[in-house]
Amino acid sequence: MSDRKDPVTLKIILIGDSGVGKSSFMYRYVNHRFTNMYRATIGTDFLSKMITLDGEPISLQIWDTAGTERFQSLGMPLYRGTHCCMLVFDVASSASFCSLDGWRQEFLVQGEPEDPAGFPFVVLGNKTDLSNREVSRRKALQWCKEIGADYFEGSAKEDLDIEKPFLRAAELGLQQY
Ligand code: GDP
Repeated sequence: MSDRKDPVTLKIILIGDSGVGKSSFMYRYVNHRFTNMYRATIGTDFLSKMITLDGEPISLQIWDTAGTERFQSLGMPLYRGTHCCMLVFDVASSASFCSLDGWRQEFLVQGEPEDPAGFPFVVLGNKTDLSNREVSRRKALQWCKEIGADYFEGSAKEDLDIEKPFLRAAELGLQQY
């Protein structure tokens, strides 16, 4: 008999409007690269990454919902079994920020988490490299405070602050495991 255990697998899902950079952010985190060809080349629904949290190996299964269209046609089983949900917007798009509440509600209804009030969300503002910013850090933080979520921002393109939101999502997800 072996003492080896399979590592804990945590499901993290990225949702938000199409074009905010969900795939790019996840691809940057897992593969340390930025590519506009992501959609065409990846051919899978999630990427896996091994990390260590408090000395424990954790397998992160990071799901990109690839826009609403395909997602809705699949129904919502994709949301189920999620340990932490990342709500992603583009800091240069107020509209994408305004959509987040709807995405959050939809996740809570369709994903059917055991404890909706205590379910962990991480909010992520992407594209901080852009100069035409429309959503201030202050505004984003204010909303996150209202919904009890942690806030992070960064840039998949410029490789800025990529790791922290995923680490936090893993920490919060582990508490749901
Ligand atoms: P998704 O639909 O949310 O998965 O978004 P994508 O990852 O497909 O990205 C949408 C577009 O935004 C693509 O043209 C990306 O190259 C671009 N993009 C993604 N991340 C960034 C970023 O951090 N900065 C900038 N300037 N563009 C980005």
